[in-house]
Amino acid sequence: MKTIVDPLLLQNQCLAWRGEGKSIAVVPTMGFFHAGHESLMRQARTLADKLVVTLFVNPSQFGPGEDLGAYPRKLEQDAAIAQGHGADVLFTPAAEEMYAPGHSTWVEVGGVSQGLCGASRPGHFRGVTTVVAKLFSLCQPTVAVFGEKDWQQLAVIRRMVRDLFLPVSIVGMPIFREADGLAMSSRNAYLTPAERAEAVHISHGVFLARKLALQGASIPEVKAGVLTYWNTHLPLGSLDYLQFVHPETMQPVENFSTPVLVAVAMKVGKARLIDNCLIAPVA
Ligand code: AMP
Repeated sequence: MKTIVDPLLLQNQCLAWRGEGKSIAVVPTMGFFHAGHESLMRQARTLADKLVVTLFVNPSQFGPGEDLGAYPRKLEQDAAIAQGHGADVLFTPAAEEMYAPGHSTWVEVGGVSQGLCGASRPGHFRGVTTVVAKLFSLCQPTVAVFGEKDWQQLAVIRRMVRDLFLPVSIVGMPIFREADGLAMSSRNAYLTPAERAEAVHISHGVFLARKLALQGASIPEVKAGVLTYWNTHLPLGSLDYLQFVHPETMQPVENFSTPVLVAVAMKVGKARLIDNCLIAPVA
């Protein structure tokens, strides 16, 4: 595995591979790898001749007062993990290289990026789509793999790819969870033991939503049930949102007649954690 820091070197390498008729898979990440990232790499490795893993804590997707400075980093261990999954390149650019002085071009997706995390984190998805567009331009991928944990991000990227006719297939992978159900996240490292013990109830609340929906409860009933559950089991949590939305448009829905994404964002201590689950209508 080669580690590349220079964007244009990466682009030259990838253009050369494409010129040789090779397909390229890319897994964009912010590092501090856990088993969720590894599941993406494992899948990506099967989808193309060459695998590029990118590791970039992208400043433009963090708002003022968010955790850009504190974001956990572990480059050497991450490099060993990427290599272990057969990555051909680990791309670890510097922020000044990705955003050269005078940088003034942004990629912004409307609609689907506006609710949920887009509402709580203004500018977040503009940062995500801008950096992902740059990464696609550098890596020339035939396929890119993302996690469903960040469901809205996946929906926003799918929309960008469709709207801009980008020649890349987007693959979504299921949420990888700890044994007790907590969605794996680099930000789980911020949790104290007491917070970690409570954080598991985020996922249990989401599973409760699915159970209640399948038992025939309405959306207001499900919402009330989950909020009551969290009030009891997650006193350290501060809810950002619990929303019931269409899984592609991310627009709020009123009932379970179509597939519904239940999405939550919750602050526990210093960590802002997200989770979701898809509820399909009962046939
Ligand atoms: P991050 O490094 O947190 O920006 O995540 C990089 C990629 O890994 C994104 O596509 C995430 O959706 C995905 N990812 C993060 N956590 C998980 C998880 N628990 N299960 C599956 N994919 C994940």
